[in-house]
Amino acid sequence: MPIHHPFTHDVVVAGAGPVGLFLACELRLAGVSVVVLEQAADPSSPLKRLPFGMRGLSAPTLEAFDRRDLLNAVEAVQRFNPSTGAAKAASHWAQQPRRPAGHFAGISFFHEDIDTTRWPYRLPSPAGVNLAVDMQALETILAERATALGAEIRRGWGVEGFEQSDDGVAVQTRGERLHGRWLVGCDGGRSLVRKAGGFAFVGTDPEFTGYSVEAELADPDALGPGRTYTATGMYTYARPGVIAMVDFDGGAAHRAQPLTLDHVQAVLRRVSGVEVRLTALKLATTWTDRAFQATEYRRGHVLLAGDAAHIHSPLGGQGLNLGLGDALNLGWKLAAAVRGDAPVGLLDSYGAERRPEGARILDWSRAQVALMRPTPSTRALVTVIRDLIATGDGASYFAEKVWNVALRYDLDADHPLVGRSVPDFAFPDGPSTGERLRDGKALLLDFAPGGPLRSVAQRWGGRMSYAAGQPRDRLGLSAVLVRPDGVVAWLSEIAGDDVGLSQAALRWIGEP
Ligand SMILES: Cc1cc2nc3c(=O)[nH]c(=O)nc-3n(C[C@H](O)[C@H](O)[C@H](O)COP(=O)(O)OP(=O)(O)OC[C@H]3O[C@@H](n4cnc5c(N)ncnc54)[C@H](O)[C@@H]3O)c2cc1C
Repeated sequence: MPIHHPFTHDVVVAGAGPVGLFLACELRLAGVSVVVLEQAADPSSPLKRLPFGMRGLSAPTLEAFDRRDLLNAVEAVQRFNPSTGAAKAASHWAQQPRRPAGHFAGISFFHEDIDTTRWPYRLPSPAGVNLAVDMQALETILAERATALGAEIRRGWGVEGFEQSDDGVAVQTRGERLHGRWLVGCDGGRSLVRKAGGFAFVGTDPEFTGYSVEAELADPDALGPGRTYTATGMYTYARPGVIAMVDFDGGAAHRAQPLTLDHVQAVLRRVSGVEVRLTALKLATTWTDRAFQATEYRRGHVLLAGDAAHIHSPLGGQGLNLGLGDALNLGWKLAAAVRGDAPVGLLDSYGAERRPEGARILDWSRAQVALMRPTPSTRALVTVIRDLIATGDGASYFAEKVWNVALRYDLDADHPLVGRSVPDFAFPDGPSTGERLRDGKALLLDFAPGGPLRSVAQRWGGRMSYAAGQPRDRLGLSAVLVRPDGVVAWLSEIAGDDVGLSQAALRWIGEP
């Protein structure tokens, strides 16, 4: 049944978390109108600030930020950068005999052991492979960008329900109805959009309750620093009172009771095996390793992205990266659907590409949970992983997964670069590839100018940029078509392959 109302917006986004805000930026870059409805009136929260708000960003996120000119702002608020040893943590990392490059279930791997020649399609780029920022600063940057691009953000406007029709969605908020062509649920792990939209959510139940705590201890030296595994669980401790711990209670304590000082102290004593005494509880929150994913990311005109589509434990720090990757993948496709120039199947490729990546991350977090169980056999397995991670092959394997430098979508092509993030081809006198993607359009790189490709690109006019030149390293290629999200859609090793280009452009960008 059609909705008999003019659409107030092309897209209504539920949730102004990092994923909703980044999606709003992408949609505005592509010129569609967007309103972001955020339930919370106040964007700030102590849980989004350090120490609890620390979030690790991996290579695809950093490349995306470089390609949208957000990287400088994000780097300016970084709290530490293990890959470069720069900024605040420089002195700390500089004092380490070996430079940590990441970890798996708390087992570190080191830069010195990693063989980067395993990724031949990565060229030097300003993006790097990992960076840590605090969540509140990141949200502020994304909100400012979204607003500057013309997105409307309404705080204190929670989505209360919606009705979907054949051509749009009527969204209920604060007693009003907004009419959008599309609704995207970026409203977090307990997503109302997912539940009200009838999306199936399947996965595995929790094994533990995790705690993030800031407290005052009668004796701040009672607990050992860093990460400690015990016969009953695991805790990390940073003086004078920042504690994270996991208690293998099957998730029973999560949101089950008020987090009192007595409760936190009892759990800490049980997990650590130390009779610590807390004198004050400043901040405490719980989380679990529940790992669930939506079986589809789109139902009609309603879509899901970020934690609304998938939840898992924060072990390994992948959830935010996964969600931002959803937004990058979805934004240009949804904009094309709004404009009416999306090729057949383009919007469906969002779920087809992002669901397997989500499933992979859920399994990655489950594997880490398995290595944390407080059993003798698990501790024995940890010893094996510790030995393997210390080898060149082992360190490179874990770096590839944790940095996510080998992400590849299946675009039904033989060449191993198709479906991957485009290498940052550098031109001696001109913008880099990353800089050329900042307008959010598809990009044709022509390394054999003078042939027919320029005129093919011109046929797609405003939807495809064209750049000709000789990069410092062209990796044996003569032309590359890059999607707006930085993914290689097509390439050629034969100069002047205008037929291949036309077919690829039709498939990804639509009719000229
Ligand atoms: C302790 C911890 C550490 C973590 N560390 C990392 C890390 O290092 N790296 C990493 O990649 N990830 C990490 N994560 C995961 C990461 O924080 C999440 O995956 C990320 O915040 C998800 O972003 P989102 O925008 O999808 O959801 P959220 O950040 O949950 O934002 C959802 C927004 O929607 C709003 N909302 C909810 N309901 C409604 C409604 N009905 N209407 C309107 N608005 C609504 C909420 O108020 C909120 O603002 C960590 C998580 C935790 C808990």
